Amino acid sequence: MANYEITVIPGDGIGPEVVDSALQVLGEAQKQFGFTLDYATYDFSAELYRRTGRKITAADMDEIGKSDAVLFGAMGLPDVRDEEGLELGAQVQMRAHYKLFASLRPVKLFEGVPNAVRAEKIDMLVIRETSEGMFAGLHDKHEPSDEEATDRMTITRATCETLFAEAFDQARARRKRGTPGRVTLLHKSNALRSNVLMEKVFDEVAAKNTDVESSKYYIDAGSMYMVTDPGRFDVIVSENIFGDITSEIAAGLVGGLGVAPSADVSRTHGVFQPSHGSAPDIAGTGKANPTAMILSAAMMLEWLGEKREDAVLVDAASSINAAVEKVLATGPRSADLGGSASTDEVTDAVLSALRSAATLPAGA
Ligand code: NAD
Repeated sequence: MANYEITVIPGDGIGPEVVDSALQVLGEAQKQFGFTLDYATYDFSAELYRRTGRKITAADMDEIGKSDAVLFGAMGLPDVRDEEGLELGAQVQMRAHYKLFASLRPVKLFEGVPNAVRAEKIDMLVIRETSEGMFAGLHDKHEPSDEEATDRMTITRATCETLFAEAFDQARARRKRGTPGRVTLLHKSNALRSNVLMEKVFDEVAAKNTDVESSKYYIDAGSMYMVTDPGRFDVIVSENIFGDITSEIAAGLVGGLGVAPSADVSRTHGVFQPSHGSAPDIAGTGKANPTAMILSAAMMLEWLGEKREDAVLVDAASSINAAVEKVLATGPRSADLGGSASTDEVTDAVLSALRSAATLPAGA
């Protein structure tokens, strides 16, 4: 029986609530599919920093990096700031430490979920560059000033080459599941030098991958098309801050952050977390939608399964995805999707959909 070491960081606000749901679903998947996940749980959170001043360190991340994957809830509380006035976010530090160059954010319109635009089908993957771009200067030394503050946007050829290769690979893999297989770069090369380089490298990589269609829009026009005509997008790839914003616009189109999973990956490391934050406004009320976290856990199984060539994990991920789709279609639904079900009720429904799929005869 295959055994994997998973680091769990529940974090702040609704993070621990939705992580608990994901662990229950992973528990059921382990029983059904016969693999084992051994968890090591770490309490890195803004709340811990507030109480003790303790932050995640490079040594912590070296230790955590030995595990097979990281399952992360959400971290950050708006009123907890470090000495530079910035929020605490181990996710940002892990992206830099493990050089997680791509944040994969699938955006799919599920049957039964109220959506914000008129579209029959929305099925895209937003790939946000996560190791440089507008966040590149985050660790620069700054002299604090009340008069001026600067952030730096840096794009390197090496990161772009890896990022775009990943985007074309993802488009090819998605094409097998029925999507058109198209990569679109959203950029701002008309005004930003860093984006001139980004566009140049994109054209070079596209020229080597002519079996996959490619297109480009300026980020401003592309944002409009995303809302007016989302069907034209398949894989979207963009700079760090543009990708951050784009992926949340896209999530808004298909029912909001409660259904938007994500995976921050490099070739060797993966951190799996919902796109949403700690949602302090609903923490402790039992209203958090666990769907994005459960789908992120399924992404973790799929990524691990493909990396280790373990088809059992890939099958378990498909089963979890199917159970979530069934619950979204039939209910119960949480408040963010127009229902009134609690986090526990949605989790229980996913668990029973998983169990009933396991008892169906093959091919049913
Ligand atoms: P947020 O994503 O936490 O919440 C935005 C809105 O979406 C809120 O109204 C919230 O109630 C709702 N929402 C989010 N997730 C939901 C879910 N699963 N079910 C139902 N509703 C949900 O964003 P924010 O309010 O801008 O940020 C809150 C904190 O989270 C901040 O401290 C921020 O820095 C942090 N944050 C962390 C991450 C991360 O850990 N990766 C990402 C974004 C924000």
